[in-house]
Amino acid sequence: MIPFLDIKSVNNRFRKELHAALDRVLDSGWFVLGKEVEAFEKEFAGYCQVQYCMGVGNGLEALHLVLQAWGVGPGDEVIVPSNTFIATWLAVSQVGATPVAVEPDPATYNIDPLQIEAAITPRTKAIIPVHLYGQPADMDAVMSIAKKHGLKVLEDAAQAHGARYRGKRVGGLGHAAAFSFYPGKNLGALGDGGAITTDDVQLADKIKSLRNYGSAVKYQHDEKGFNSRLDELQAAFLRVKLAVLDEDNASRRTIASAYLKGLKDCSLILPQVPSWAEPVWHLFVVRSPKRDQLRERLLGLGMETLLHYPMPPHAQPAYGLSKSYPVAEELSREVLSLPLTPHMPEENINKVISACQMIGK
Ligand SMILES: *Cc1c(COP(=O)(O)O)cnc(C)c1O
Repeated sequence: MIPFLDIKSVNNRFRKELHAALDRVLDSGWFVLGKEVEAFEKEFAGYCQVQYCMGVGNGLEALHLVLQAWGVGPGDEVIVPSNTFIATWLAVSQVGATPVAVEPDPATYNIDPLQIEAAITPRTKAIIPVHLYGQPADMDAVMSIAKKHGLKVLEDAAQAHGARYRGKRVGGLGHAAAFSFYPGKNLGALGDGGAITTDDVQLADKIKSLRNYGSAVKYQHDEKGFNSRLDELQAAFLRVKLAVLDEDNASRRTIASAYLKGLKDCSLILPQVPSWAEPVWHLFVVRSPKRDQLRERLLGLGMETLLHYPMPPHAQPAYGLSKSYPVAEELSREVLSLPLTPHMPEENINKVISACQMIGK
């Protein structure tokens, strides 16, 4: 069986270093907000080319805490893509605001900047572009609309650690960015984790307080905060894996190139990469109107695929909106994510290509 993502093989490459990281934390006797988190925050801020990084509990919390820090709340609206993982929407709902969906550009699957202005109202406070599947959204276009209307921009970079937009890393393109270190992400911990990056010192201080019970000085609470910290152990593991993130992303790029080349003559719709984008291929997503049959037959040949995502947020019972978002709905019926593990054997890449060619004729 060719797994969709062979996460054991990803982590096994660093078994010795991960054990050493565990020993280091055990020996320190310090497990929350200590040296490892501080070091990781510095290293990840440097990696993302920003001033500040704050480790938090997970990606959803990263999104939520930024909106909270900006004072987004009940009665406010936040613009989100219609096709994203539901966490992007949930963060907006968590502060009591309303997610307002904008459809993606069907060529790139990222939020269509040309449709954003029509969704802006006097209540709009922020825009959350998502760098979906590891490909950066068109941030210059988003930022200029935001500037014109006085809106904040929060990048949802949960799928795009290391991706570049016009040569610049994601994480420093908006006013703030949210990352997830869920085990299956490009930079994955051995459990939950997340981070916020920004160049705004006031936001950085506010996040440090909000993640820690609203406190900057122990037992003095300036606001009603939360408990949402990246823990020392996960930070120590992430430091091991951050050191090889670029190498892993390069391997993802090689695999994606092989897929793009090998599948160019079959009937599948392939991902398109704008000239200004350097994606990190969190997922390699193809489209077909016969998606379900294709998936079934690949499984029969021993190849596991997944759907990102089978139902858009607005149609989920959690939201149950009656309004239709046809592009997101069509994507949810047609998308298929092919197996992609950094350093997967070339033989497996070729098997997937041959199977898709055979079925997709
Ligand atoms: C994974 C993901 C999140 C949520 O991150 P968690 O750490 O799982 O909470 C948010 N947005 C997108 C686009 C994601 O892929």
